[in-house]
Amino acid sequence: MAAAVVPAAGRGERLGPGAPKALRDLGGAPLLVHAVRALARSRAVGLVVVAAPPQGVAEVLSLLDSHGLDGKDIRVVAGGATRQESVRLGLAAIPESTEIVLVHDAARPLVPVEVVDAVVAAVRAGAEAVVPAVPLADTVKRVRPVAAGEPEPVLDTPDRATLRAVQTPQGFRRETLAEVHAKALTEEAAGGSPVVTDDAGLVEYYGGRVVVVPGHEEAFKVTRPLDLVLAEAVLARRRASDGF
Ligand code: C5P
Repeated sequence: MAAAVVPAAGRGERLGPGAPKALRDLGGAPLLVHAVRALARSRAVGLVVVAAPPQGVAEVLSLLDSHGLDGKDIRVVAGGATRQESVRLGLAAIPESTEIVLVHDAARPLVPVEVVDAVVAAVRAGAEAVVPAVPLADTVKRVRPVAAGEPEPVLDTPDRATLRAVQTPQGFRRETLAEVHAKALTEEAAGGSPVVTDDAGLVEYYGGRVVVVPGHEEAFKVTRPLDLVLAEAVLARRRASDGF
């Protein structure tokens, strides 16, 4: 059985003022409830640990209860000041006997179960770290950031064919993920810290091997107000087509 950590302690300021992002409504349920359901739908996932905003643990627990997520072991722990810390705290609540751990953003409520299953399958097949990803639609340029309002000089244009936009759930051998988070914590305590924006990035930073499996366009992250509009549309289409 695999276990999943859902970091859900972010403020989500880019969405605008209001409740923490994970608790924003999407078609009658908070983003977080959709995300946990999406994981729980996979037969491979037996335990889901949510890292909630530290003041919101009780609220999140009753929210998950009231949306009837029965049949799976669902736990809530207090998250941290950064996404990385929230993942570390969630990971600490997972039994050491668990071999496979997924990390899934609460902000990706509509990930299809096929993606969850494909990530678990790739870890089962021997990978230590797996990320779902999609090719880029846009051309990407590296720039030298300058003060707001000034045009930014372009440094170069990476070959788009070699780029992927990375999603979650990311999958890991539990030992690998616990090890890189412990190393990062030690580095932080010594005053440094690896700057990464996802868990696979930590594995890469410490020299591990990460592989990519196909992601899905519906696994997008709800970050800005327009993403919520898109998520509502995807959900409405699913409900109309298969009583989702
Ligand atoms: O801000 P961003 O969209 O990158 O956040 C990704 C995920 O990390 C979200 O699900 C958010 O709730 C979570 N997060 C967290 N703890 C923080 C910051 C972000 O669990 N301190």
